[in-house]
Amino acid sequence: MTPAEIAAFAPPADHLAGRVILVTGATKGIGRALALGLGQHGATVILSGRSVKKLEKVYDELIAAGCPTPAMLPLDLENALATHYDAVAEAIGHEFGRLDGLVHNASLLLTRSPISHYDVPTWCRLLQVNLTATFALTQVCLPLLEKSTDASVIMTSSGVAQRGRAYWGAYAVSKAGIENLAEVLADEYESNPCIRFNTLNPGAVRTDMRALAYPAEDALQLKTPAEILGAYLWLLGPASRGHSGGRYHCQVG
Ligand code: NAP
Repeated sequence: MTPAEIAAFAPPADHLAGRVILVTGATKGIGRALALGLGQHGATVILSGRSVKKLEKVYDELIAAGCPTPAMLPLDLENALATHYDAVAEAIGHEFGRLDGLVHNASLLLTRSPISHYDVPTWCRLLQVNLTATFALTQVCLPLLEKSTDASVIMTSSGVAQRGRAYWGAYAVSKAGIENLAEVLADEYESNPCIRFNTLNPGAVRTDMRALAYPAEDALQLKTPAEILGAYLWLLGPASRGHSGGRYHCQVG
């Protein structure tokens, strides 16, 4: 399929039936829309986020939309310790016995500034949430992903990953890091056709994070999270089997 066909992918409603997919940052923005979109295509979604109250709201939305009953997995990626990650893997293993999809969507942007003035604690927080937590969660989930016959891991990237841009500091570095992490994993699992690792760049999308980065732009000109889900659905479903180590885009052209 061409990049444009992948971005416009519109599968039938049972496309992800029977699959168990974990989405981080499922409380708002792209993560919330993705959770709903996956549920509406038959997946059992494990909703992860740092606020139980917000997770419950999305949980209720999935139930109201007639999706398979989701699960909730509270996890603060900024403060999670090894024991928390172990507990996550144990809970998923106990409930489902495997994992068919893992979408690393949660991310922080915080303030943008030149490196000469970049605040060190901000740097550490961003790398922790955007990069180190992605590594740690992937690591504990690998045994569960290995139990799936067709597992897909997505790292959510950004336009600043490929080429660093002034003032994007730790955010740009963290996104470049997860692109590399996905490639390392794809290479390590090259001989296992049952697991794929790819990165996906949503492009400009109407969310709180985008508004923080571009406060002066007209957000109504941007696509909504629900309008950019085609490539996610492709990467998480059977059609992308065998495609690993790639860099994909939700918006093409
Ligand atoms: P968003 O609306 O700001 O949502 C970010 C999500 O990450 C929220 O669910 C947030 O939870 C969660 N999160 C933040 N810190 C967390 C922590 N410590 N532990 C757990 N969850 C945490 O952002 P978005 O625009 O939807 O972005 C989604 C992904 O797309 C990100 O990876 C972002 O880098 C990427 N992206 C977005 C755009 C765009 O234009 N929007 C462009 C390129 C890439 P809370 O609800 O608790 O805050």
